Amino acid sequence: MSQFFGADFDQLQSQDPEIAAILLSELDRQRKNLQLIASENFTSPAVLTALGSTLSNKYAEGYPGKRYYGGCEEVDKAEVIGIERAKELFGAEHANLQPHSGASANVAVYQAFTKPGDTVLAMSLPHGGHLTHGSKVNFSGKWFNVESYGVRKEDELIDYDELREIAKRVRPKMICSGATAYPRLIDFKIIREICDEVGAIMWVDAAHFIGLVAGKAIPSPVPYADVVSFTTHKVLRGPRGGMILSKAAHAAAIDKAVFPGMQGGPIMSAVAAKAIALKECLDSAYQDYAKQVILNCKALASALEKEGMRAVSGGTDTHLALIDIRSTGINGKVADERCGKSGITLNKNAIPYDPETPAVTSGIRVGTPAVTTQGMSVTEMPIIASLIARAIKDGADDAKAAAIRSEVNALTAKFPVYPR
Ligand SMILES: *Cc1c(COP(=O)(O)O)cnc(C)c1O
Repeated sequence: MSQFFGADFDQLQSQDPEIAAILLSELDRQRKNLQLIASENFTSPAVLTALGSTLSNKYAEGYPGKRYYGGCEEVDKAEVIGIERAKELFGAEHANLQPHSGASANVAVYQAFTKPGDTVLAMSLPHGGHLTHGSKVNFSGKWFNVESYGVRKEDELIDYDELREIAKRVRPKMICSGATAYPRLIDFKIIREICDEVGAIMWVDAAHFIGLVAGKAIPSPVPYADVVSFTTHKVLRGPRGGMILSKAAHAAAIDKAVFPGMQGGPIMSAVAAKAIALKECLDSAYQDYAKQVILNCKALASALEKEGMRAVSGGTDTHLALIDIRSTGINGKVADERCGKSGITLNKNAIPYDPETPAVTSGIRVGTPAVTTQGMSVTEMPIIASLIARAIKDGADDAKAAAIRSEVNALTAKFPVYPR
């Protein structure tokens, strides 16, 4: 057991039973329920070990060989190995492993290339963009003039012609592509052309799909983009954190924006854990995993369609699917609650041109990174789809929700997470 919590779980149990009990019950929750949140995964015991290690104690402001503190010789090695692995895995000219999260990485990107008040063009939030792409309650929307592009109503795909027109009209300093709820591939070649036409920096926020790129399952934005930011904990399956790749010409600007521009000391336990995850991604087993994630998601989306719901854009090319559930007569908020009660963890999500408010929504978002790590295949996807459909329909009824939950538990028991 202790291997999942760092070295001394037994000691924690005697010292702080209250928190130790939470660690155990969270493990139990992850094992028993179906984890379909598209941005979640089960990281390896090796990654968890590094996160719970003494590297957490070390202050290492600065970069390897140029620290503001002494005693950094060991953590320097971990960061250098991580940087080299990132460059190799993605074919990148520069890598920065220090951002504490995806949102922090994005703060650094804005800081490296723009000044407050500048215009940035990014995917509209109601069409799948992230908070850091210009939400009024986020620094991005408060400090920058963020203009947005979206998807066409007819096919729910990014409208590149519209994107080009808006770019020509608003002349952005930077164009951001990447989203939290766009199930299709993005055409980075066209976006590069548009950036060149208007003289904009090409920024790809690859938080969601970078793991699929790492697994060589979808095309990479790295050859096209000036800068690629992402999280390391989604499909990539590493520790919670952020990372930035860039062209060599932008290396100094990126590094300065991360430190001292945005952060103090890096979390060296997380940097080492990122290095471990990158090594795992370099293995062919990870490539098989990434391809299976997509196969599973396609199977799940089509099984949900057979259950009478509609996959936005007609399906998916990635690890996530956005499902329009209006045919059920139930909104996203209620569906999310009923699934939760039935042991299925997913999230409500706005669909493009959603008639409901963002707090209610007409859709759900499902993803297959976690269930695929558990070992599930296309065989299990119709079973999951039918459990979701039943939970949405019957989950208000306590007895029916409990019955669905016990079927969920029976399914997940066949694919144990962190087997004992
Ligand atoms: C998840 C995500 C982020 C933010 O990552 P955090 O680690 O939660 O801060 C940023 N951008 C996109 C597109 C994301 O999907």
